[in-house]
Amino acid sequence: MEARKSSLFHDFAGLFLPRCCAGCDQALMAHEHTICGDCVEDLPRLRGHDDPLNKVEQVFRGRVQLQAASAFLQFTKDGMVQHLLHRLKYKGEREVGLELGRRMAEEVMQSPRFADVDVLIAVPLHRKKEKLRGYNQAQVLVDGMHEAWPLPRRENGLLRMVHTSTQTRRGRLARWSNVESAFQPSDPDALCNAHVLLVDDVVTTGATLLSCARALESVPGIRISVLACACA
Ligand SMILES: [Zn+2]
Repeated sequence: MEARKSSLFHDFAGLFLPRCCAGCDQALMAHEHTICGDCVEDLPRLRGHDDPLNKVEQVFRGRVQLQAASAFLQFTKDGMVQHLLHRLKYKGEREVGLELGRRMAEEVMQSPRFADVDVLIAVPLHRKKEKLRGYNQAQVLVDGMHEAWPLPRRENGLLRMVHTSTQTRRGRLARWSNVESAFQPSDPDALCNAHVLLVDDVVTTGATLLSCARALESVPGIRISVLACACA
């Protein structure tokens, strides 16, 4: 509710106040959207989409069979990427996610490893968090990507299963297997023989993306790729 209120406030205020850059708070020029030209220049791009040995590939190597994995930006503590993602996740600034999504799509769609992606699926957020925030930030990134790269999106293509109340009493291994089954495809038949691109905001340990990928693995003929807005 709070997130929705604050985003309404931003929409309303935007009618009267000068639009400011989400990166540096300077006034935007008429042709700029959300992030000013200087901040766009300064975005710490990883540019590893074509590289099968890039740092996101290393996270998943030997854990799950992926077609390709990559991230758009380098996440650093207190850096610009953290600042932008904070505005998206906690300040109700959905537009920041749309802009980042558009820009990451413009890059990734050029890479031969991602060029034949058929469908975009966002990593689902916990239902409680989504209710609180008003949206799933990974879905906002997908929606932004779709504007630059009009591929089919499957909203709620993965469902987050809720059954973790006894988790603390279980051993480490059992807990891991519990995480493994935390997701389920909503319509596996629709993903047969498709190249699915799983999208998330940040990849750190890769645990969430990994369990999403594992949930999709058994779909016949599926190929799975992974893209994060940022890699920590
Ligand atoms: Zn700026």
